[in-house]
Amino acid sequence: MKQDVSKRFHVLIPDDRWFEENIGCEKACPVNTRAPQYISEVREENYNLAFELNRGDNLFPAILGRICVHPCEEKCRRGLLIDLPISICSLKRASADFKTHTPQEETAIKKRGKKVAVIGAGPSGLSAANDLARLGYSVVIYETFSIPGGMLNVGIPPYRLPREVVRQAIEEVKRLGVQIITRTPIGKELNLESLRKKYEAVYIAAGAHKAEKLGIPGEDLQGVIHGVTFMQMVNLKRDLKFDSRVAVVGGGNTAMDAARSSFRLGAKEVFILYRRSREEMPVDSRELEQVEEEGIQVHYLTQPIRVLSRDGIRVSGVQCIRNRLGEPEKDGRRRPIPMEGTEFEIDIDLLIPAVSQSPDISFLPDEIGLEISKWDRLSVNPETFETNVQGIFAGGDFVTGPRDVIRVIADGRKAALSIHSYLSGEEFEKKPSHFTTVSEVKIDPDLEKIPRQKMNTTPIQERKSVDKEVELGFSKEVAVREAARCLQCHIFTIFDRTKCILCGGCVDICPKSCFRMARLNEIEGDESLSKLVESLYGVSCEEAERLNLATVIFKDESRCIQCGLCVKKCPTGTITMEQYHRESTPYGGDQG
Ligand SMILES: Cc1cc2nc3c(=O)[nH]c(=O)nc-3n(C[C@H](O)[C@H](O)[C@H](O)COP(=O)(O)OP(=O)(O)OC[C@H]3O[C@@H](n4cnc5c(N)ncnc54)[C@H](O)[C@@H]3O)c2cc1C
Repeated sequence: MKQDVSKRFHVLIPDDRWFEENIGCEKACPVNTRAPQYISEVREENYNLAFELNRGDNLFPAILGRICVHPCEEKCRRGLLIDLPISICSLKRASADFKTHTPQEETAIKKRGKKVAVIGAGPSGLSAANDLARLGYSVVIYETFSIPGGMLNVGIPPYRLPREVVRQAIEEVKRLGVQIITRTPIGKELNLESLRKKYEAVYIAAGAHKAEKLGIPGEDLQGVIHGVTFMQMVNLKRDLKFDSRVAVVGGGNTAMDAARSSFRLGAKEVFILYRRSREEMPVDSRELEQVEEEGIQVHYLTQPIRVLSRDGIRVSGVQCIRNRLGEPEKDGRRRPIPMEGTEFEIDIDLLIPAVSQSPDISFLPDEIGLEISKWDRLSVNPETFETNVQGIFAGGDFVTGPRDVIRVIADGRKAALSIHSYLSGEEFEKKPSHFTTVSEVKIDPDLEKIPRQKMNTTPIQERKSVDKEVELGFSKEVAVREAARCLQCHIFTIFDRTKCILCGGCVDICPKSCFRMARLNEIEGDESLSKLVESLYGVSCEEAERLNLATVIFKDESRCIQCGLCVKKCPTGTITMEQYHRESTPYGGDQG
């Protein structure tokens, strides 16, 4: 279709999808955590309510408030429009730090008389178990390690995630009646086939614990310990100490944790070897700052090519080569290209390759006929988490390889619903989206001037223990100040067309120039605009344009800071401020 150059403005008539996309943080969260709502509660110092909102959506607020990869912050309107995003993650922690009571789960859950087995007590298995138990199923989790929690206990170190916080979260799941049987790997005495006979459904959430190798000569020498194995030792052998020179290879969470744990356990010197540049590093910039503060040297654009040994038995060094960056790869990061002639050696006695992990599918029996992808992963339907074998579901890192806690919690919650509909034939009834009127939007007049608040950390000289938590959380005062920065994107200005007299007051008063007034022939829209015009004027959109029938006021929502000045200025009460509540699901959205 020929583009009409006079149409300067492209408009959309808002629908549910539009409202959801405009609450960027909530939309970006894999479980759609109601971030603007809990942030408003923190601002009002209603920590119990803020915690309950979080617990309803993402299950483990005290854990996620410390270690979540917070995809929400990337989509925060404040970060896109004004300065830095709201510390959504740290405000989640504030809700957990300052709550004065833990909400009690429903005691009278109607039992359905059906049993579900879960393999793996990591965050994905725990979240599925939690929801299935709340839906009335009897759930038993089988776990290889002596403690439940998966990577929350055997991967992430306690200086980032105190063990008491993990213990309490698991206790809450157990309080629902979920049984966790530890030291019981499925695949040995007990296998998947016997679980199928004993239980009506099985959810496999066995994680990704097999270290990926670097594939360079010397990797089998003594003194080469792969990242996940090293972190297991740090977390399970509590008396570990060493004074080695350590090189860690990688740029993700496991690499940073291995390097920072080495520093705490007495290493003389710690290097991180990363093959790309700082910009490409997947790890959070706040963590990288802490790495640097702790004196860990990061060699960017550096790749190991051979592990060296003086005696042919133990590691004595690593040979590396410098890289330059080439074209972007599929994931958008630029490809590292080794530069011949730049080889150099570093003396070390411990090498920790921490480049990636993969799931160990060896315990899945061939006889069942589970479909395995060409990447050696168990194939599942990405919507329902069902495998090709009836009654067997799988999710978390086990089906994708390493991801992060919030995404595997989302898998567990969706898989639980899917298992529920498989076992009961019922679909979970969702509540439709709706609005509630907000009588007054509370807004700090200096909102735009408040900088992102900093969190206090343990001084470096006191960090020589893996148990000493580094990030100390916000004080109440700082939490309230940070929460006051939020633009409250869940509140929208809603216009009653029948009351508008087109005075333009809203256009004039808006400090962010959100509103525009235009003739119909200046705007372009889709069929919903045509339908609206036809229903109002009884003629086609083209005819209404030709007859110059309409003047339109429209709004650029992405600039709105919810100041409410337009509402106050409007002489006819056309504009109200209303809170949008998305269609509800048990793993997010409005449940109230
Ligand atoms: C060092 C490290 C740091 C990390 N840091 C972060 C971070 O800061 N933020 C973040 O969001 N994510 C982080 N992650 C990633 C995150 O921990 C994982 O994505 C998440 O734990 C995966 O959850 P899961 O339940 O799928 O698997 P896991 O947590 O791996 O749990 C799987 C469980 O299954 C058990 N299991 C395996 N096989 C069997 C079997 N055959 N029978 C019985 N039980 C079995 C395992 O013992 C384990 O307990 C980190 C990971 C590591 C390794």
